[in-house]
Amino acid sequence: MPSDLRPVESALVECRHCAPHFAKTATGHAPRPIVHLHHAARIVIASQAPGARAHASGVPFRDPSGVRLRDWMGLDQQTFFAPGVVAVVPMGFCFPGQDAEGNDLRPPAICAEMWQERVLAALPAVRLTLVIGAVAQRQRLGRRGPMTETVRNWRDHAPGVVPLPHPSWRNTPWLKRNPWFDAELLPALRQRVAEVLAD
Ligand code: SF4
Repeated sequence: MPSDLRPVESALVECRHCAPHFAKTATGHAPRPIVHLHHAARIVIASQAPGARAHASGVPFRDPSGVRLRDWMGLDQQTFFAPGVVAVVPMGFCFPGQDAEGNDLRPPAICAEMWQERVLAALPAVRLTLVIGAVAQRQRLGRRGPMTETVRNWRDHAPGVVPLPHPSWRNTPWLKRNPWFDAELLPALRQRVAEVLAD
């Protein structure tokens, strides 16, 4: 691993900046940065924050959402987690916790301020960024409109960036309402993923 990523990754794994904030959430959990990075990664997954499952396992996208995301990308699990393929750079590296109704909270804004630029600067091989969900799209792309419009206009960001909905099974009705996603965006996404991994 080149020296650029090593110190950033080591410091990120140890980060406990949000401990007082997380202690006040309904989940009352401690910070656990979920770090999946590699200096030669070709693809960045720019998501919102890990959920409770990733917080428990320590591994991002090893859940039904990850299965769907890999299907969208045309990758199997082994390739997805292989060194040099994917780096997960969310707005918040820790599970933000839940409110009293069990809804996931937004990631603390300080996380992106502290880490995003440093991490991305240490990933020089990235050729493709997948920006997942409305919150990440607002932060990364400056898009204020509805997520559907941002994703529908995916060609505006090609070839380096592709906005996507969250691959949660909760979005299955959205996928049914928007057949162009499956018919037009996914074939282009799979082709782009194959290109950047073959490059
Ligand atoms: S969310 Fe980010 S800033 Fe907060 S403790 Fe986790 S890694 Fe640190």
